[in-house]
Amino acid sequence: MKPLRFLVSAGPTREYIDPVRFISNPSTGMMGFAVAKAALDDGHRVVLVTGPVALEPPRGARVVRVVTARDMRRAVLECLPACDVLVMTAAVGDYRPARRHARKLHKTTRALSLTLVRTPDILRDVRRRATGQVLIGFAAETHRIRSSAARKLEAKGLDMIVANDVGSEGAGFGARDLRAWVLFRSGATAKLGTMPKRRVARYIVRAAERLRKEKQGNA
Ligand code: C5P
Repeated sequence: MKPLRFLVSAGPTREYIDPVRFISNPSTGMMGFAVAKAALDDGHRVVLVTGPVALEPPRGARVVRVVTARDMRRAVLECLPACDVLVMTAAVGDYRPARRHARKLHKTTRALSLTLVRTPDILRDVRRRATGQVLIGFAAETHRIRSSAARKLEAKGLDMIVANDVGSEGAGFGARDLRAWVLFRSGATAKLGTMPKRRVARYIVRAAERLRKEKQGNA
């Protein structure tokens, strides 16, 4: 098969309160880096848009480093026209402080309230601009896993979503294995069970290849 151009987002985003404090989440980037590696191993090209993580990117990927959700949105939308498949594994923060203080906030004895505002939903914006790319998302859930994922698949206009059970304590972040279900736009579902992220990554790349062929066949 002709090599595809994969755009993979990975890791957390960070939203700064002041120069030394931020709001983020425990995503390590492991899943996205594994997808990038699996795609490269299959002879595809990869742009990896990643939030701050400690991992070494796979050799051969073009790496774009970002910090905030807005940075990630900009990078993803910029790379989208030149890609065939988007895999959004990034744990994008949904809120950011309304104001980023220019200087470190000094503590007082009083409580401190932060006003948070929404960040953009990158996949929703991608959907509006997509021109036939295969769109794959993730849903990290602690409960009602499949029904939440089905809702997101529909709302975000995805071809496929990987519903990932992160456990009630969120322990799935940074874990080697993933307990996952896959839902397709067609209505098909697959239970992957518990497997290492690199195997889930291989599954995603193969599914993306198949979905791309199907989309081209329908065009
Ligand atoms: O709505 P939720 O955050 O659970 O959806 C998860 C999927 O949406 C993931 O693929 C994630 O990368 C993507 N996402 C996004 N922009 C956001 C939040 C999540 O594209 N602001």
